[in-house]
Amino acid sequence: MLYKRSDKINKNYDVIIIGSGLGGLTAANKLAKDNYSVLLLEAHNKLGGFATWFFRERKKYIFDVSLHGFPIGMKKTCRKYWNKEIADSIIQVKDVRFLNPQYQIQTDFTKEDYINKLVHNFNLDEKKVHEFFEFLSQMNFYDNQSMTNRELFQKFFPDRNDVMRFLMEPICYANGSTLDDPAITYGIVFSNFMSKGVYTFEGGTDRLIKMMRDELLENGVDIKMNAPVEEIIIENKQAKGVKLMGDTIYAKSVLSNANIKTTINTLCDTKHFSNDFLNKNEAIRLNTSSCQVYMALKPEASIPHIGELVFTSTADHFDTDLLLDMNITSRTYSIYYPEIRPQDEVPKTSIVSSTNARFEDWAALSKEEYELEKKKMIDETLDHLETLLPDIKSKIAYVDAATPLTVKRYTHHPKGTSFGTKFEGLDVSMNLHKEIHGLFHAGSVGIIMSGWLGAANYGVIQANEIESYLYKQQQGETHARL
Ligand SMILES: Cc1cc2nc3c(=O)[nH]c(=O)nc-3n(C[C@H](O)[C@H](O)[C@H](O)COP(=O)(O)OP(=O)(O)OC[C@H]3O[C@@H](n4cnc5c(N)ncnc54)[C@H](O)[C@@H]3O)c2cc1C
Repeated sequence: MLYKRSDKINKNYDVIIIGSGLGGLTAANKLAKDNYSVLLLEAHNKLGGFATWFFRERKKYIFDVSLHGFPIGMKKTCRKYWNKEIADSIIQVKDVRFLNPQYQIQTDFTKEDYINKLVHNFNLDEKKVHEFFEFLSQMNFYDNQSMTNRELFQKFFPDRNDVMRFLMEPICYANGSTLDDPAITYGIVFSNFMSKGVYTFEGGTDRLIKMMRDELLENGVDIKMNAPVEEIIIENKQAKGVKLMGDTIYAKSVLSNANIKTTINTLCDTKHFSNDFLNKNEAIRLNTSSCQVYMALKPEASIPHIGELVFTSTADHFDTDLLLDMNITSRTYSIYYPEIRPQDEVPKTSIVSSTNARFEDWAALSKEEYELEKKKMIDETLDHLETLLPDIKSKIAYVDAATPLTVKRYTHHPKGTSFGTKFEGLDVSMNLHKEIHGLFHAGSVGIIMSGWLGAANYGVIQANEIESYLYKQQQGETHARL
């Protein structure tokens, strides 16, 4: 059932899920399908977390926030843990372009085409390219994690900054990784994308989340939005439920889809954790954030096809620090042609420019400086877009922009992190239930578990953990009774 804001919740549950990002949603659906009673609590007034959208001008314009591209694996995950209709709406982004001073390339982002481009456009030895792909495909969680991305590229393609840019830039954009992050995080994410290219959701994020919400309700999940959980109740190292607007709701287990650091430092009382665990949590670095410029075309306006995902940069070389610099040189345009939203009566075209960014840079500005900087970002983006689409300014009807501060305000993620935590967050997240029985975490952590696919898959992994925990609990209770 869908609770109203004023409704009191008097039931007990097998699982309470805090947060409805793709991790929380997918865990909720799996658990409900497996006949567990689930309560999903979301602080926001809609489900989806970062998988979100917003309207402007009385719904005349709609913008997707994080629907730019995900790997093919999302189709399998949706078929298995959601439904066929959702899986069948996942369609390929066929035209990916790179425009920078080092090269201009059009690709479908498949492994085949990438190898072809590396050999023919970058004149690399084919054997070496295959060795690189083979090396990545062998990577797994248990590998030595000391090798960095910088070392990985130096090993296979020494001093080829252009090659590094071609291989790394889309992944930095996709999950905020840097040249100094462990190569394993790059290898796993790149191999996921390279299996069959980049995908998107036909109909937009609003359609996806509505379909997910319908399925959750059909499977018996109780949902409450506008429901910011204040506290996870812990007694004797055991999660017992949550506090919501002063009320206590009891459950046998709790899954937090909030940021891992927020889960431990804010939602829980830290006195329940060992010092060793708290130190590990303290040491987790957050991933960086993003800026976006949202541009909607006038309803009757159209543009020529210039690609669906266009990675542009004006920097003469590639460096992950440059991607984050406030002096923006790198913009990735997602172009939403009307075909992406076939359900719309009036065809809509919108363009979203995304740039990775540091929270600290934007947070340090005064109110006036912040407004000026935001305006500068919009103006420079429009100027840059004119170089790709002459006369575009006259076709744009609405422009808005988001900064790391916007991301923080809407998602409650510390420092507006778009992609959760760096690699070390994974260990703390996965072992949370060993510190506090019945308390689990799912959501963007460790770079690998971030993004639409990573978050959804992590929801499944943690749902399995919860099921095994609840089964053991039940066995224990049965034994005690006998
Ligand atoms: C600008 C941007 C672009 C992106 N582009 C892409 C892309 O193209 N492809 C891709 O794969 N990924 C992309 N991502 C990343 C991807 O969207 C996220 O990794 C993923 O959606 C995160 O899911 P999650 O499960 O971690 O939960 P989140 O989306 O982080 O959601 C967590 C939810 O928990 C709720 N919550 C938190 N605290 C509480 C509380 N106390 N009580 C109740 N509710 C609470 C929040 O309101 C939120 O709804 C992008 C991210 C950003 C910011």
